[in-house]
Amino acid sequence: MSPARRTLALGLGVAAPTLALALGWLLAGLRERAMLAEQRRGELVQAAELLRAAVRESLEELRRREDARPFEHYGRFYRPPEVLALGEAVALSPLAGEPDDPRISAYFQIDPDGRVRTPYATEPGGSPRAVAVEATVAGPEFAPLRALSFGSGAPAGDPSLTVALNDLGNAAYRDLADARRGDALAAERAQKVRLPQTSRNLVTWDAIQSQQAQNAPPPQQASAEPVFEAIQQQYAAGPQGHVSADGSQRPLPKAHVPEDIPQEAGPSLDYSPMTYLRLGRTVVLQRVVSHAGAGSVQGAVLDEGRLAGEWLAALVARHALPEATPTIAATSAAEACALARPVHDEVLPDLAFCFPAPAAPPGGSLVLQLGVLLGLGGVVAAALVAIARAARRSDELSAQKTAFVSAVSHELRTPLTTLRMHAEMLQEGLVAPERLPVFYDDLAHESVRLSRLVENVLAVAQLEEGRRVLQLRPGDLAAQIRDIVDDQARHVERRGFPPVELALPDEPVVVRCDPQAIEQILVNLLDNALKYAADQRAAGLRVALEVEGDQAVLRVQDRGPGIPEADRDRVFDRFYRVARERDAHTPGTGLGLALVRELARGHGGEAVALARPGGGAELQVRFPLASAAARPT
Ligand code: ADP
Repeated sequence: MSPARRTLALGLGVAAPTLALALGWLLAGLRERAMLAEQRRGELVQAAELLRAAVRESLEELRRREDARPFEHYGRFYRPPEVLALGEAVALSPLAGEPDDPRISAYFQIDPDGRVRTPYATEPGGSPRAVAVEATVAGPEFAPLRALSFGSGAPAGDPSLTVALNDLGNAAYRDLADARRGDALAAERAQKVRLPQTSRNLVTWDAIQSQQAQNAPPPQQASAEPVFEAIQQQYAAGPQGHVSADGSQRPLPKAHVPEDIPQEAGPSLDYSPMTYLRLGRTVVLQRVVSHAGAGSVQGAVLDEGRLAGEWLAALVARHALPEATPTIAATSAAEACALARPVHDEVLPDLAFCFPAPAAPPGGSLVLQLGVLLGLGGVVAAALVAIARAARRSDELSAQKTAFVSAVSHELRTPLTTLRMHAEMLQEGLVAPERLPVFYDDLAHESVRLSRLVENVLAVAQLEEGRRVLQLRPGDLAAQIRDIVDDQARHVERRGFPPVELALPDEPVVVRCDPQAIEQILVNLLDNALKYAADQRAAGLRVALEVEGDQAVLRVQDRGPGIPEADRDRVFDRFYRVARERDAHTPGTGLGLALVRELARGHGGEAVALARPGGGAELQVRFPLASAAARPT
């Protein structure tokens, strides 16, 4: 595996677990969010059940209170009011005033004969409250309730049942009224009035139903049946089922009867348990009280506005958790709620506790988490790209170095072989005396080539390690160039090139330079020209020096293939060689131009490759003139 692939694999090896971790983090966040939502829902359900339990308890408490009221409270002890005088001892029903429970709007009684009565004082013309309540109870929605009352009197001939339900208590008042009429001793006699004290038997709805079946006229019975069923269902379902099904007797609650009214033991009455009943949109608490074949319906009309308003609001305020406070909404409009539960399944099914969705959904940091994940993904991707680039670069460098090593060894082998063969032939006297000058020349040439190669490699290594410091001294560049080209004349000639065309200014061109470096620059450029323009040797080479502004410009020109534009900058990179079919067998290491550029820069100048007008390559090296270099910048 190449180093690049290895590096890339390493990068992927680091990136993949990082991304997997980040993804895991995101998933964990999502799961946590789902759990939080589930938990929140659980909390809401719990809060709703708490509130519903509070509603049930409060309604049950109301029911028990009303259940405990004696028969007399609902319709007795104040009629007929016109017979009473101020200051007389009168037992007034505690239900005659404003109901003390805000949930109740009015009390009522439906007499055995179907007459609706309310326990409010009936002034001449009727009190507005009495009229309104009586109108409600006498209205069509209450018809099934009215059908529950039955009988109008005791069966004839039964002396123990001579007092029917309608007349209980009223008989005492009749005495009182009679006594009052025109009698000067009315007060005294009133004190003597003895009111019957009834006792109660709790009976089941079944018992009431069968009593009614015996005593009610057929149409009433027919319309009463669904109501019985509804009441029985409520008893079967609701927590009010505390009423014993066998009709066992309950302790009699103390009646609100003033002490100055004399009492006597009265008859015992059958009470059905008090239950809630919905009549259209009206909720009532009702029971049937029966005696001697007559049954009255007693109850309270609940104020739905109050129930839905102040009562529920107060209940929510008292029992709701601060973080889960519902509003009261119509059950039909509950879709908008995060959670909706009916306030009470039987009594108030049309109202619901509506929990709003939390203002900030749990896990609001999802966006942040996604952002972080995306950012991380971006960073990982960028890092992978950078790693891939670095890996490719390192691959290129390693390929270049491999090429360099093989090139250098090849470059070394050729002159070394020539040197060894020539030396051996000389040693063994195999060279004819007239060929000796050529042999010596070859030996000199190859050793020069060898030493140049070694010099180049060393020079690059020294520059790379920062060990080489150029010795810059002002000198005439033109004179140096002339000397170097003269030195190379023999070499040029041996390569079959005509003498180099030299174009130098007449005046000295003074630059601060290191003569050895200048020689390395020019020799490398001439070597390249001889190597790459060998096909066009007849066209010769040209070396020119010109002064342009504050620079001395050295040009080495040939008529060879030139350097493709795309490679003109890269040829100055170390080990870079133009990939060209024709140069495949041209020896070289890719170090020459790199060395030229570094040395040029060491002089404060620059080296560039250009196309020579008319074809060929032009390698240009610019040096700052000594006067310019000395000038303060
Ligand atoms: P090399 O040892 O390969 O000559 P250099 O650094 O001297 O290394 O040159 C880099 C590359 O530039 C060469 O491989 C060659 O392709 C190209 N080059 C340099 N000089 C010339 C030239 N005068 N004409 C054409 N191509 C050249």
